[in-house]
Amino acid sequence: MGDVLVLIDHNDGRIRKPSLELLTLAGRLGTPAAVVLGGDDPEALAVQAHEYGAATVYVAEAPEIADHLVVPKVDALAQIAGEANPAAVLLTSSGEGKEIAARLALRLDGGLITDAVDVLSGDDGPEAVQSVFAGSYAVVSTVVHGTPVIAVKANAVTPEPVPTAGRTEQVTVAFSALATSVKVVSRTPRASEGRPDLAEAAIVVSGGRGVGGQEGFAVVEELADALGAAVGASRAAVDAGWYPHSQQVGQTGRQVSPQLYVAAGISGAIQHRAGMQTSKTIVAVNKDPEAPIFGLADYGVVGDLFDVLPKLSEYARAD
Ligand code: FAD
Repeated sequence: MGDVLVLIDHNDGRIRKPSLELLTLAGRLGTPAAVVLGGDDPEALAVQAHEYGAATVYVAEAPEIADHLVVPKVDALAQIAGEANPAAVLLTSSGEGKEIAARLALRLDGGLITDAVDVLSGDDGPEAVQSVFAGSYAVVSTVVHGTPVIAVKANAVTPEPVPTAGRTEQVTVAFSALATSVKVVSRTPRASEGRPDLAEAAIVVSGGRGVGGQEGFAVVEELADALGAAVGASRAAVDAGWYPHSQQVGQTGRQVSPQLYVAAGISGAIQHRAGMQTSKTIVAVNKDPEAPIFGLADYGVVGDLFDVLPKLSEYARAD
């Protein structure tokens, strides 16, 4: 197979972990090629991409990329893909990643698969695995028309360094008229209190209505900090104003797929499962032994979260 383009997400001069995972997945499908758009130090990003197996790194720098929403990135990717004719394009399945993926698939007249939890090399081209119906089924799909554009959830795989002496190519993008139609006026980083981003975190500890109030989230945050985890919340907790909507996990919140998901005081409604069912290991803490979350959990603790969580924090800190 040929090149597999990976759109690199970066922050503060570092490639974000989900994009390193994509480079590892790209290596299964063909020859990884990274696309670095914008950034203060694209050369440093290119070096990191080579360290994780990118044989070619396409770098495009232009004020349009930082100052406007997704269209300049779509323009750049479409131009690079048009020239490189890749076997597939991989992006992270974040809100922005999915929007870029959808617009790109349209431009390339290709097929789109989002929310993949794995990517495989099949007989007829790249295959994407999606987890559906609360994790009851794994659906394997392949794109049968045009370039496959696949958006993959974070934590699909452990990124593997494969130092590669590749080349870096500077690209001058011809932006479309649409590219500058929406301008970013300001950016305000979400207050994460030094915790990892919810969508990328390897561990997420979430609280639900069982937490009982805003103050109840202190035990959830304590465990999250002991584990180096992000904090999530059910919609019931968010709707009650106990935790910010930015941290809501579920169908109408964020989709997470961490190595470990701890659900505390969460019943396990289908809409909550939709956001966390692909987590590798699920631990539920609930005082109701009949709570549906136990049907999904790998490990369940029947008990009061105000007893259980502090003990878990203590064990985690002792480790
Ligand atoms: P509950 O269902 O009330 O469960 C609370 C649990 O806490 C219970 O199981 C109880 O036994 C347990 N508990 C109580 N006290 C304790 C204690 N001291 N210790 C241990 N356990 C205790 N929900 C989401 O989460 N995310 C979404 O994105 C989302 N989107 C939705 C979209 C639509 C269109 C609709 C209709 C609903 C959506 N919901 C979503 C809401 C969803 O249906 C549930 O209402 C919600 O997930 C319930 O949240 P919960 O589990 O925290 O609360």
